[in-house]
Amino acid sequence: MMQRQGSSDSTGPGPAAVATVTGARPGALPEALDVAIVSPEIVPFAKTGGLGDVLGALPPALERLGLRLCLFMPAYRSVLTGGFPLEDTGVRFSVPISGHRQEGSLFKTVTGSAIPVYLVRADRYFDRDYLYTTPDADYPDNAERFTFFARAVLEVLRKSPPRLLHVHDWQSALAAVFLKTQPQLYPELASTRTVLTIHNLGYQGLFSPEHWPTLSLERRFFTPDYLEFFGKINFLKGGLVFADAITTVSPAYAEEIKTAEQGFGLEGVLRRRAADLAGILNGVDYSVWDPETDPFIAQNYGPRNLAGKRACKTALQQAFGLPLDADVPLAGMVSRLTAQKGLDLLREALDGLLSRGLQFVLVGVGETSYQQFFNRLPLDYPGQVGVKLAFDEPLAHRAIASADIFFLPSRYEPGGLVQLYSLKYGTVPVVRATGGLKDTVEEFDPDRGTGNGFVFRRYQAEDFLAAVDRAIGLFHQRDKWAVLMGNAMAADFSWGRSARAYLDLYRKLGLEVGGAAG
Ligand code: ADP
Repeated sequence: MMQRQGSSDSTGPGPAAVATVTGARPGALPEALDVAIVSPEIVPFAKTGGLGDVLGALPPALERLGLRLCLFMPAYRSVLTGGFPLEDTGVRFSVPISGHRQEGSLFKTVTGSAIPVYLVRADRYFDRDYLYTTPDADYPDNAERFTFFARAVLEVLRKSPPRLLHVHDWQSALAAVFLKTQPQLYPELASTRTVLTIHNLGYQGLFSPEHWPTLSLERRFFTPDYLEFFGKINFLKGGLVFADAITTVSPAYAEEIKTAEQGFGLEGVLRRRAADLAGILNGVDYSVWDPETDPFIAQNYGPRNLAGKRACKTALQQAFGLPLDADVPLAGMVSRLTAQKGLDLLREALDGLLSRGLQFVLVGVGETSYQQFFNRLPLDYPGQVGVKLAFDEPLAHRAIASADIFFLPSRYEPGGLVQLYSLKYGTVPVVRATGGLKDTVEEFDPDRGTGNGFVFRRYQAEDFLAAVDRAIGLFHQRDKWAVLMGNAMAADFSWGRSARAYLDLYRKLGLEVGGAAG
């Protein structure tokens, strides 16, 4: 726990506002900004899940609509050592932490598009092996790390005020909090409006009250109306209270999180903010996820030429030492190994699933208990199960391309990208009807030829198995399976539509955009 001398009773807003940004070279900071986007993950620089994918693809789609943007993320070790072009902007700043000032610098890199990505650099916070958590535990100073990040972004933006500040998840949420609760520190941003996007309500940034001085906020904000949550500090809740608008990544999830079952204790706050809460479905970056161009897979293919998909299946069977049999349904999963993803259901259903003769391949990394369980499976079911316990991007592409069926039995799923990738690759998703899965996968109707996957509702092994049975049954009816695969591959979840929905929201908040937008 980070406890600094003399800081334990620091309840004020920290040192008075002083211009602390120095050394900026001309052009070092963004100009005439519409939106500054703040995220703890951006592909290709850092990713632990869908959040990184979304922040890699949404900004270029917004830029195509005519918006002037920049991105902010921490300068993690993966960014500093990843071979990306890095530029020191010369900007140096200091921000209040625990009533003291902590220093940092601003680096810059670019994505595939011309959008500048500003890297908040403070090596003592971000030059580490992992983003948030080691295999054993969360970093003990996460509250301080992401307080610093939020403060740093605001400090830098004082020199370059955007019309809108769009923050993502708990790691960025405090930027919206500080802006509203300490306007005297950020007078240049007085008219900047804020949007908070929730990518997963299960991760809130909860910290014990000893960390309160780190935030340099008045004590009155550590109460249940604001950042207090059952005795703890809740960063995400702060964002939910103070952001001008809130979004989440599917319409269904926007409804679900207002209920006690899915609200993780924040349903009350979300219900109070219901008028300002919208669900905007995630899209897919088809320049990365397209079987016709994917450089990672054994052979490219498309809806009119599926020979490549068969080659991919054989290659994956070979890689995992499974019998090379095109007629056995190959099921797959690419997932963080955490309860959210329905792994208990999978564990319960597993004997039943494998007794149906299918092959199963899993690529995943996460909680130790699941890793231990899945590690044993290839030994328990030799020639039937392949497991790779790692975060392996190329293998994720290969698994999605090679399988016939993908399992997404999630307990809850805010948006979900894997089912969208599966569809594009003609890999039929079997999903539980929750959140973004419910919004994007429709049960196949063999008589009418409609639908793109298989859907079950209750979180019960028998319901999951029944859906898998429907999938396997159809797999063996080649003509119908071809219709289903065609429907899946035809689905279009490109970012354009979602980006326009964000633009509409920005406009409601007062953003005026000329030219190409619309
Ligand atoms: P979440 O954000 O909850 O993890 P999503 O479906 O939105 O779920 O996004 C998951 C993303 O992470 C996808 O791009 C998926 O391919 C990727 N992914 C998950 N686990 C792994 C892994 N072990 N190796 C490589 N990529 C993974």
